[in-house]
Amino acid sequence: MKTSISKSRPLPNITLNDVGGLPEEMKEEILQTLSIIKEPERSAKVGIKPPKGVLLYGPPGTGKTLLAQAMAREIGASFFTASGASFNEMFVGVGASRVRNLFQTARKQTPAVIFIDEVDALAAKRKQHGGEESEKTLTELLVQLDGGLDNEGILFIAATNRKDMLDDAFLRPGRVDFSFEVPLPDTQGRRDIIDIHVKGKRLAQDVTASLDVLAESTSGFSGAELSSLFEMASRRAVRNGQETITRGDLDFALDRTILGSTSRTMKDA
Ligand code: ATP
Repeated sequence: MKTSISKSRPLPNITLNDVGGLPEEMKEEILQTLSIIKEPERSAKVGIKPPKGVLLYGPPGTGKTLLAQAMAREIGASFFTASGASFNEMFVGVGASRVRNLFQTARKQTPAVIFIDEVDALAAKRKQHGGEESEKTLTELLVQLDGGLDNEGILFIAATNRKDMLDDAFLRPGRVDFSFEVPLPDTQGRRDIIDIHVKGKRLAQDVTASLDVLAESTSGFSGAELSSLFEMASRRAVRNGQETITRGDLDFALDRTILGSTSRTMKDA
């Protein structure tokens, strides 16, 4: 079943500080970009135009969706979200009309963020496109992004794991003004993300004492994997009727996560 893509989604109560592991300069650049949107008159006086589109790219589970939500919150915007794949249709014109519909609905609820995840499914290089329908949908997206005054108060945010696949016309300034890489977190980044996800959880003392080591030993883990680690450990603790998350729960979750990613890698190989 297709989910409705033209409805504003309620946003979780998050800020940029809930997205761990982002380089400090990147956070600053994002905040600066958003301040131009928040104070259009002041920016206009110094001749700066508000950005129209932002691309977030990086591996799966690094917090791109979370970051888009935090950005929408920061500017007090309503949030419209869709996956690029949800525009792929067999019938010519259907994907294009979905794109039009999405922008038209968002324009009635400005300030608004339109967030498209897996945008590579919608804006892949033309030669990689699968025919007339995909071509029409991409063309419609470009038309809508060029909406001029109609797009006042709209910030388009797209996310992808495959920036290399995106069409140059889509990436043109004026459509995508800023690209931010959201990488896998380094040790300090993982430590920050762990702190975010243990907030509100009761940890046994030896677990609290082992969080630095956990950050060091989880190289290659994404934020999503770190988050699911603590969710899994919490569920096990609750199942066992404990009041705190123990080392045993965390080790169990770690084994499961490592096993899961190993079997994924083996399947991919
Ligand atoms: P995908 O590319 O697969 O769409 P994504 O980059 O959009 O993934 P999210 O959907 O934002 O990743 O992450 C999923 C969940 O993992 C988040 O809701 C959050 O709980 C956790 N998470 C991921 N990255 C971070 C991060 N940098 N800081 C804190 N939590 C994170």
